[in-house]
Amino acid sequence: MKLVFATHNQNKVREVKALMPTYIELLSLTDIKCFEDIPETSATIEGNAQLKTAYVKEKYGLNCFADDTGLEVESLNNEPGVFSARYAGPQKNSEDNMNKLLSGLNNKTNRDAQFKTAISLRIDTTEELFLGICKGEIITEKRGEEGFGYDPIFQPKGFSKTFAEMTLAQKSEIGHRGKAVRLLIDFLSSIS
Ligand code: IMP
Repeated sequence: MKLVFATHNQNKVREVKALMPTYIELLSLTDIKCFEDIPETSATIEGNAQLKTAYVKEKYGLNCFADDTGLEVESLNNEPGVFSARYAGPQKNSEDNMNKLLSGLNNKTNRDAQFKTAISLRIDTTEELFLGICKGEIITEKRGEEGFGYDPIFQPKGFSKTFAEMTLAQKSEIGHRGKAVRLLIDFLSSIS
């Protein structure tokens, strides 16, 4: 079965492809020549993942899944949430985003936060949603060189390392995206 992963990010495609059941032929947006900007105008992470799969299903008639991730900080009313990529502006710069978040938390004692990944799947007329959550806290200074985005300031609960101080394998095992992807794969394996 052909299944589109609604992303152009080849790193994500490679990672997920390695875990997929063999009956699935995974295609990216690049493979189906979808180069237009898919609207991500929802107020929620779940909604944005669903918008992407609705678009691909309607416009291309293909079975597909899409992911969307955000960082939710409790004492900032769950911001940056859907605005995680562009929190400090349209330049989508991770350093700027982290600095803005650290300033916003300057006078707060509650630094609890969570990463949330939503994966929307549409196969024929079936729609499923898988959620992966990783709880933790925003530390006061950046630590570590690995990963991307907010990794240097996010320390998962029960660990003394930030995501940026972990290997990709460690992060995937306990992280939001890994959890959501495993739920997706379990589902796909169960219907094969
Ligand atoms: P996307 O939906 O995967 O494109 O993620 C949106 C934004 O959330 C990214 O641009 C990052 O700023 C942030 N983000 C997503 N996943 C992670 C992660 O695993 N670690 C740190 N930041 C992340």
